[in-house]
Amino acid sequence: MIKKTDVVIIGAGPVGLFAVFELGLLNINVHLVDNLDKPGGQCAELYPEKPIYDIPARPKITAQELIDDLLKQIDPFKPTFHFNQQVNSIKKIEEGWILETSEKIKIECKCIIIAAGAGSFVPRKLPIEGIESLENKRVLYSIKDKSILQDKDILIAGGGDSALDWTNELAKISNVTLIHRRKEFRAAPDSVSKMIELEKQNKIIFELGQIKEIYKNSKDKLDIKYQNDDTINSIEVDYLLPFFGLKMELGPIANWGLNLNENLISVDTEKFETSIPTIFAIGDINTYPGKLKLILSGFHESALMAQQCFKYCFPDKKNIFKYTTSSKELHKKLGIK
Ligand SMILES: Cc1cc2nc3c(=O)[nH]c(=O)nc-3n(C[C@H](O)[C@H](O)[C@H](O)COP(=O)(O)OP(=O)(O)OC[C@H]3O[C@@H](n4cnc5c(N)ncnc54)[C@H](O)[C@@H]3O)c2cc1C
Repeated sequence: MIKKTDVVIIGAGPVGLFAVFELGLLNINVHLVDNLDKPGGQCAELYPEKPIYDIPARPKITAQELIDDLLKQIDPFKPTFHFNQQVNSIKKIEEGWILETSEKIKIECKCIIIAAGAGSFVPRKLPIEGIESLENKRVLYSIKDKSILQDKDILIAGGGDSALDWTNELAKISNVTLIHRRKEFRAAPDSVSKMIELEKQNKIIFELGQIKEIYKNSKDKLDIKYQNDDTINSIEVDYLLPFFGLKMELGPIANWGLNLNENLISVDTEKFETSIPTIFAIGDINTYPGKLKLILSGFHESALMAQQCFKYCFPDKKNIFKYTTSSKELHKKLGIK
């Protein structure tokens, strides 16, 4: 079944979220698609605890607080979120566009707003030949349902927050071995202490080394060879979970025929529309003379983009400019009594 909405926003970072607000004030309904499992983009994924000092009228706000407040602000408009997936393809139809996500969800809309920041966060993969055939089956870069790991032999690779957090968490239900190339970890000190304590209690095993080879053996197990100095060791497990952090990729957007400038999308500065009418780009993903990659720039771009979107969504209606302070109609939309 094809879902229908006015606008699809690709990217639920701070700018995509604020765009929901600006579009909502103009009665424009929105679906958002994001690769991540939660809203907030770079703010939530890369620096949630860091204070930001240049959000207008908020002298100091942590990145996660900003996202939480944006979510509160857009709540009256009840946007639909599609997480853990990216928009793979777009197809032009007479009334607008049909988008298809990597989870095979199809959405019909009149306009597309690309608020994809620096691109999709994708996991750094293990550079091992033949690993592709095991990915998402026995080699998992993220865990959507930990129950499949219950009572299994698991090898977790990495030394950052995800590797240590999942080691500590899965130690409760699985037989976990953690492998890292050195004894020092980049994870939060508290997670490292917990892991060391679990190792002392023989609840997990820690190995030093780097994975070199991996294949599925006749017992339906993964046979993994890893190297520590000059020694090659091997381990047999059900699942390998490599957690080597995330990198950013533009992904399928690069193939949609948009004018690109060094992986950024060129837009005008009146409407923030791309070279394809009814497709807009706002936030870190766009470029124009004088562009500043700041959250406040993305907020401004959202407001102007929404004005043009209104014209595409409601070609027969006139948009009368209103202030949120004084418009009763806007108060009603915002649920203000
Ligand atoms: C450490 C750090 C500190 C910073 N400090 C400040 C500061 O003090 N002040 C300031 O103004 N800015 C700061 N920034 C920059 C600010 O975070 C960015 O300008 C802002 O996040 C851009 O928002 P965005 O919504 O455009 O993109 P992003 O936050 O990057 O969000 C984009 C979202 O789109 C998703 N996405 C991308 N491609 C796809 C796809 N194909 N399909 C589905 N989803 C997709 C991504 O998963 C992501 O969630 C900082 C950045 C960093 C890294």
